[in-house]
Amino acid sequence: MSETTTEKHVFQAEIQQLLDLVVHSLYTDKDIFLRELISNASDSMEKVRHLEGTEKNIKDAGDELNITLELDKEAKTLTLTDRGVGMTHDELVENLGTIAHSGTKAFLEQLKETGGSPAGLIGQFGVGFYSAFMVADKVEVFSRSWKEGGQNLRWESDGKTGYEIEEVGELPRGAKIVLHLNEASADFAEEYKVKTLIERYSNFVGFPILLEGNRVNEVEALWLKNKSEVSEEEYKAFYQFACKGFDEPSYRLHFAADAPITINALIFAPGENPEKSGFGKVDGGVALYCKKVLIDPEPKGLLPEWLRFVKGVVDSADLPLNISRETMQDSALVQKLNSVISKRIIKMFEKEATADPAKYRTFYGKFERFFKEGIATDFANKDALAKLLRFETSMTEAGEVCSLTDYVGRMKDSQETIYYLVGQSRDQIESGPYVEAFKARGLEVIYFTDAVDEYVVDSLGEFGGKKLTSIRHAGADLEDLDTEGETLSDEEVSAVCEFLKEELGDGVTQVSGGKRLVDSPVIALVPQDGMSPQVRQMMKAMDENFKDEVKVELEINPRHALIRKLSESRESNPEVAKLVASQLLDNALISAGLLDDARETILRMNSLMEKAMG
Ligand code: ADP
Repeated sequence: MSETTTEKHVFQAEIQQLLDLVVHSLYTDKDIFLRELISNASDSMEKVRHLEGTEKNIKDAGDELNITLELDKEAKTLTLTDRGVGMTHDELVENLGTIAHSGTKAFLEQLKETGGSPAGLIGQFGVGFYSAFMVADKVEVFSRSWKEGGQNLRWESDGKTGYEIEEVGELPRGAKIVLHLNEASADFAEEYKVKTLIERYSNFVGFPILLEGNRVNEVEALWLKNKSEVSEEEYKAFYQFACKGFDEPSYRLHFAADAPITINALIFAPGENPEKSGFGKVDGGVALYCKKVLIDPEPKGLLPEWLRFVKGVVDSADLPLNISRETMQDSALVQKLNSVISKRIIKMFEKEATADPAKYRTFYGKFERFFKEGIATDFANKDALAKLLRFETSMTEAGEVCSLTDYVGRMKDSQETIYYLVGQSRDQIESGPYVEAFKARGLEVIYFTDAVDEYVVDSLGEFGGKKLTSIRHAGADLEDLDTEGETLSDEEVSAVCEFLKEELGDGVTQVSGGKRLVDSPVIALVPQDGMSPQVRQMMKAMDENFKDEVKVELEINPRHALIRKLSESRESNPEVAKLVASQLLDNALISAGLLDDARETILRMNSLMEKAMG
């Protein structure tokens, strides 16, 4: 080499501006400089891999591709060496002295547009290499390009106004970056500190990272592999080690997509509900990566809130490395990811449920509340989520469940709506007066027995274009039944109804002779817009002064012996008839879960019993 000359260069004005930002305000979290440099090193070695397929004369071809880190506490330096493509003189000038690459350029353009206030933009764009100046007051880059006859170069800058380039003695191919750490960042020469950072951000980088001679990153980025290349054991180990799963995963989704956004995802549904037995809400368990480099371990907005129980990795090469936590949720890219991934996850559950209903049943038993939360909160996915619901119905055996799709498939031709009832249990629902009319007509009724189901059904409203109708409400259009046995005449029915209406006064809006009932004498129906018993319970629990007037519509069963007797005793024994009228209403309210105060009921019962015994 001839005598060395040192060229002095001045940074482009934009770079100076950028450096000023980087150093003073851009990153709140200066740790990330290491992630940026390791990413650059990894990208550069990726390029070597490609070149090895096409080019013949690559300097040091065949050398192992790795990243080494050396620390010197005395000298306060951190040195990162890669065996990538390196840079020629012109590339050094272009890449590290001007704003040639898109991310930074876009950053500065945005900065100009917003009138120079970096606050909202900070971290949105990659400024990669320059982040080194957050921790270093001097940076040296030793570089040897892969190209034949390339020079051995040293670039140096204090990150203020300019940089120097000079030729140096023989170097291996690649880049060696020496950070002369500033006072406040001296701890980046500590091994434990650097190790933690690598494990956190760069664990899945596809090249060995050696820190002081020891390999740090161990885990393979399974999500980028082809499904067929990954064994069950590897998946399980990944779940347990990388996702910190303490149980066996129950399901997994591994997919790659190119449109509308590049995604490689590996997502697990755990075996156990992490929120069971009062552990409280867990944080999202899906980490966001860009080309194997961690962007955020708990990205906000990547998945809908209700999916917080799943664990895994989403990797999108389309994301800027430095997308910040603040802007994450507003990012159109992240919203796209959210939409694509949540749809895929729901589809996966649907498929698994069909493939192995028993397994899904067990899973559902532990995780149904998440799906239900989704129906109530995730408008875009609520219809798809409804397909995941399972429940018993008047046509399933006790303990057997089915889906809304099953239900709709069984609906009668004439049936327009999906009938359901919310109650505490199958037994409780079936012992009440509501279901019998539907059973008698061969109409299936869904039994919702979870405390939150009332809200879930309310949010859902309909399924597959069919309205969900509570059979607690008046107005179900039921066809006549050919019933045998004695019944009251139409005139007698009207008379009994009138009598009841008079006796019960404001407690009932209407009394009618209905077709609903088979075995029960009377039923209380609440108006369509009325509060459900579950909601009333809630209101009462929250507000001790809560009072609402219960107004129901009574439907009587003209075939029932009690009603027929009432029709007679109305005139023959009005005293008892009056007591019976009130008692019938209370009984109906008890069945409806709407009786608030039973004191009067008990007193009346007592006098009825007395009378019965003469
Ligand atoms: P980005 O990585 O987003 O392009 P950087 O500021 O980190 O932005 O890097 C600018 C350019 O410098 C890169 O695009 C690459 O061409 C070059 N470069 C950075 N680090 C290295 C390296 N270790 N080896 C080779 N080239 C590098």
